[in-house]
Amino acid sequence: MSARYDCDVLIIGGGPTGVTLAALLAMAGVRVIVAEKESAIHPLPRAAHIDHEGMRILQEAGAAEAVMATSRSADRYEFRNARGKLLLSFDGAGQMGAGGWPVANMIHQPSVEAALRGALAGQPSADLRSGWEMLAFEDDGDGITAEFATPEGDRLLRARWLVGADGARSPVRKACGIAFADLGFAEAWLVVDVLVDDPARLPTANLQICDPERPTTCVLMSAGRHRWEFMILPGESPEGISAPDSVARLLAPWNVEGAVRIERTAVYTFRARIAREWRKGRVLLAGDAAHQTPPFAGQGLCSGLRDAANLAWKLAAVTKGEADAALLDTYQPERAPHLRATIDMAVMMGRMVCTTSSLGAWVRDLKFDLARRLGKLPEGPPAYPPLGEGAFLAGSPGERSYFAQALASDGTRLDDVLGPGAWLIDRADLGEARLAPFAPALTAWLDAHGAQAVLVRPDRHVFASGERGDLLQHWQAMMGAPSAPNA
Ligand SMILES: Cc1cc2nc3c(=O)[nH]c(=O)nc-3n(C[C@H](O)[C@H](O)[C@H](O)COP(=O)(O)OP(=O)(O)OC[C@H]3O[C@@H](n4cnc5c(N)ncnc54)[C@H](O)[C@@H]3O)c2cc1C
Repeated sequence: MSARYDCDVLIIGGGPTGVTLAALLAMAGVRVIVAEKESAIHPLPRAAHIDHEGMRILQEAGAAEAVMATSRSADRYEFRNARGKLLLSFDGAGQMGAGGWPVANMIHQPSVEAALRGALAGQPSADLRSGWEMLAFEDDGDGITAEFATPEGDRLLRARWLVGADGARSPVRKACGIAFADLGFAEAWLVVDVLVDDPARLPTANLQICDPERPTTCVLMSAGRHRWEFMILPGESPEGISAPDSVARLLAPWNVEGAVRIERTAVYTFRARIAREWRKGRVLLAGDAAHQTPPFAGQGLCSGLRDAANLAWKLAAVTKGEADAALLDTYQPERAPHLRATIDMAVMMGRMVCTTSSLGAWVRDLKFDLARRLGKLPEGPPAYPPLGEGAFLAGSPGERSYFAQALASDGTRLDDVLGPGAWLIDRADLGEARLAPFAPALTAWLDAHGAQAVLVRPDRHVFASGERGDLLQHWQAMMGAPSAPNA
C-alpha cells in the first residue's frame, strides 16, 4: 500500500456486515479501517436467528465459538392460525446444516456483534474507529477521500476502495444516487425483547400466530432471552402501542407475567427492497445498505454475512494485485438472484402472517388444510438457489453450488483444517492425514460430479471441477490479467 492511502479498504458502518468484511479482509492481509458513527454497539432488538451458512462465515471471521456459547435451537418453527391450528411447521433446526453448523441458531444480535468486534480486535491490519461519522466522500478514479466528524474534530481518510455497510438508511448509497427496487412489502411491527427468569413458562418452538386480529411472532433468542413481535394495526400509533400498559395487554394472553422482564422495545417497518446497483466506481454496497428483507425468514443479517464473504476475497485479490478490478463486477450478479430468493421466501411467509382480513385468513387456512391433506406442504424452507453467474467456470459440474463443510467424527471442521483462501482438492490428496477424516464426504462430492478435483472459492462456492491443471489455468484466467499490485 502506498503512503498516499490510509488503508486499502475503508468500510463505513461497524454493524455485523462491516465488521465481518473487515475481519475477513484483515485475515487476508488487507489494511482496512471501519468507521462507525456510534460509540457503542447498536443496542436495539434486531436479529434473533443465524443459519448454518452464516455461522460458517462467523467461523472464518473468528467469532463462531463465542456466538455458539449462548446460542440455542428452537424445537420447531410453527405457523398457527388464531384458533391455534397448525398451518405449517418446519423441523430440524438443531440438525447439522451444509455449513457445518446447526441449521438454525437463535441469537442476540448485540452479543454477535460483540463477538465479531472481539475477533476484529485481534487483527493487526484492521482498525475500528468508533464515533467516526462519515459526512461526505469523493471518488477521483484513483481512490476515495472521505470526510468524518470524529470526537477529536473533522478528519479525512483516503482509501483505494470504499464499502458502504452503513445500514438501511445508507448515506453511502444516497451519496451515490442509487435507488431501491421496492418489492412491495411494508408493515410496521412492535418488537418486545425480554429477559427470562422462568424458562419453563415459555414456548420452546418459534411461533408465527397468523391471527388477523393481531398477527404475532414469538421466538427464542440466545440463552436467557425471548422475543415477541406484534403487528401494528391501522389507527394505532407507534407511541401508543409501545406504552407499558399496551405492551402488558399484548403479552397477557401468553401468561408470562413474573416469568419475564422487558429489556427493550422498538418499532420497525419491515420492508423488502434491493438497491439497483451494488457498485459505483470505487464504491460498493453490502448488507442492509444494499438490501432489506422482512424478518420472517431470519435472513437480513445472514445476507449481509454472505455479502461480506463474497466481497472479501474479491477485494483482497484486487487490492493485492492478484486479480483485475473487473472481478468486483461479479459481486452483484452472483449475489442478487440468491438474495432475491431469500427475500421472496420472507415475503411469502410475511404475507401469510400479516393477513388482517378474516375472509383472507379463512381462505389461507383452507388452502393450507387442502395442501396438508394432499401431502403438498413443504417440509422445510425452500433450498437456497446457487449463486448467479460470475466468477465461475460456466458449465463445469457443480460450479456455483455451495460446498458443504464436512465434519470429522471428533467434530473437527473441514474449514479449520484447510484454512482460509481458495482450495484445490484432488482425489490424489485425500490420503493425507489431515484430509483422511473428511475423505468419505469429499470423495462422495467428487464421485457425484464425476471429477478428479474441485476448486472451491474462498467463499466456499465451487468455482469448477475437473483436472487439477485445467482448474488452475481457468482460475488464473478468471482472475484476469493482474494490474499493478494494490490496484
Ligand atoms: C426486528 C428485526 C428482526 C430481525 N431478525 C433477523 C434475524 O432473525 N436474522 C437475520 O439474519 N436478520 C434479522 N434482522 C436483520 C438484521 O438485523 C440486519 O439485516 C443487520 O443488522 C444488517 O447489518 P448491517 O451491518 O448491514 O447494517 P446495520 O446493522 O444497520 O449497521 C450499519 C452501521 O452503519 C453505521 N452508520 C450509518 N451511517 C453511518 C455514517 N455516516 N458513518 C459511520 N457509520 C454509519 C450505523 O451506526 C450502524 O452501526 C432483523 C431486523 C429487525 C429490525
